[in-house]
Amino acid sequence: MSTFIRVQKVEKDYGPTKVLRGVDLEISAGERVAIRGASGSGKSTLLYLLGGLERPGKGSVEVAGKNLAQMNDEDLAAFRNSAVGFVFQFHFLLPSLSALGNILLPARIGGHDAKVIEARAKNLAQRLGVSACLEKWPHQLSGGEQQRINIVRALSLRPPLLLCDEPTGNLDSLNSGKVTELLGELALENKTTLIVVTHDDKVASAFERKIVIEDGHILR
Ligand code: ADP
Ligand code: MG
Repeated sequence: MSTFIRVQKVEKDYGPTKVLRGVDLEISAGERVAIRGASGSGKSTLLYLLGGLERPGKGSVEVAGKNLAQMNDEDLAAFRNSAVGFVFQFHFLLPSLSALGNILLPARIGGHDAKVIEARAKNLAQRLGVSACLEKWPHQLSGGEQQRINIVRALSLRPPLLLCDEPTGNLDSLNSGKVTELLGELALENKTTLIVVTHDDKVASAFERKIVIEDGHILR
């Protein structure tokens, strides 16, 4: 399989905090990867770098042959919109739109066919058990329902790269298992490269490749 992500000698500091201290990582197209590590070890930081939300201090991050560190802000934003789906734990829904309105918002911004995205979203919502939530307002949904709506929103665009930060953090163990299994299945169907940060061993064990971050490095 071809290399889709190539991270070389990446370092990242936040002020005096050295978070990543030389990360090298290759991920193939279509690979499904779990990232684990202690709280504060830099898992979210690594996802932000892969998704072009942050820039490395040193080193290079290449996704689909493009060096993100060399892109200007505009190109980086275009890369994020076209190539990356994010499912982040604190990625809130806009309170003034229904769940479906929230799901369709990035599609509208990106100029996608709203009918196609809506059909996909309804199918995904059914598979994730949140069909009844689509017409509701965010404040009427539980944390777990909001999290699943976030997943529907990210997946309905079929991004080549899907980055998930603790996607099951608000779910009970039954729904956590279901969502994890479905993320893996959908990634396989859509040939999506899937990277999931989790502290949950059960979630991590569902993925063929597991990576551990410790002290700013990736353990082999
Ligand atoms: P993890 O996701 O593994 O828990 P993070 O990547 O969120 O770890 O954070 C790694 C370290 O970097 C932590 O010490 C955190 O406090 C710090 N950090 C993360 N983001 C910022 C930021 N924007 N500004 C300052 N420090 C940050
Ligand atoms: Mg984190």
